[in-house]
Amino acid sequence: MSVRPNIAAMSGYVPGEQPQAGKFIKLNTNENPYPPSPKVTQAIQSALEGGLIKYPDPVATSFRNRAAEVYGVEPDWILCGNGSDDVLTILTRAFVSEGQLLRLPYPSYILYRTLAEIQGAKYEEVRFAEDWSLPDTFIVPKGNLKLAFLPCPNSPSGTVLSPERVLRIAERLPCPLVVDEAYADFADQNCTELVKRNKKIMVSRTLSKSYGLAGLRFGFLIAQPEMIEQFLKVKDSYNCDALSIAGATAAIDDQDWLQENRSKVLATRQRMSGDLEQLGFSVVPSQANFVWCTHTERPVQPIYEELKKNRVLIRYMNYADWGDGLRISVGTDEQVDACIGLLKSM
Ligand SMILES: *Cc1c(COP(=O)(O)O)cnc(C)c1O
Repeated sequence: MSVRPNIAAMSGYVPGEQPQAGKFIKLNTNENPYPPSPKVTQAIQSALEGGLIKYPDPVATSFRNRAAEVYGVEPDWILCGNGSDDVLTILTRAFVSEGQLLRLPYPSYILYRTLAEIQGAKYEEVRFAEDWSLPDTFIVPKGNLKLAFLPCPNSPSGTVLSPERVLRIAERLPCPLVVDEAYADFADQNCTELVKRNKKIMVSRTLSKSYGLAGLRFGFLIAQPEMIEQFLKVKDSYNCDALSIAGATAAIDDQDWLQENRSKVLATRQRMSGDLEQLGFSVVPSQANFVWCTHTERPVQPIYEELKKNRVLIRYMNYADWGDGLRISVGTDEQVDACIGLLKSM
């Protein structure tokens, strides 16, 4: 019994640690430190009382309607997914066949590679420059190039490209461009308006980070209707369950909660970046709910290990041909103080 050779050859995506036992301060997977809007729990509770006998709405109409208002588009511009990872999977399956090419920036979200590998496709990684700008080699045409992913803000750097720059990239790129805006609610600017100007641009979003709902699994795509129509054929019939649709609709409906949460996270991000710099870290200015830092004098892996021993979990990343660093999620003020306190004592 053998699976397809590309599946046998791949190692599989490894998500950040989710310790199930013991009490950790978790600053390693960019979850929101604050609970979601109370309206989310209420909506899930009522959906539960309504019963789960029937199949859910295959396209999550209630969410599409509300998201369409928030983004100033019609509901048929929205595709919902079981987390935005599901949306990225649908896009890869829709655009890229075996042997064809995906383009990615590097270092970036490792899952894109995995999606290419599952498809039996190839990927080409374009290295960010030292200052995290993206070289023009990203737009060079190449036979077989079918799709490009561009996270904005990027992980692990937390840096963005301006919407003007993204538009210019899309105009010159010979394939569609997915702007992965998992962290865009924490940024000053985003690319959702660009979707109206160029049908090659598609923007993916998630409720996992800014809405505090990583456990719910809900994400969505904004793209022109003729594109969405195609993706609907590729997705699982019932890719979002009734409880997550109810919760997600209540979450996107509570934009006041989002704004309040965003302000708290941004204030902590600024304070945390300053504190880290004072401790000798070199911190990349972040537009996301995490910061990427290296240390000017010391190797960072032992710092990660030492924090972990003290039950503070951050992310240590080591990128081949690039270097290593620490990605620290913005927690509550208390969580961040605990982390900074330990770093001071080292
Ligand atoms: C967290 C993350 C996602 C996806 O999150 P979901 O929980 O699947 O919605 C997508 N892209 C990037 C860059 C992320 O960091």
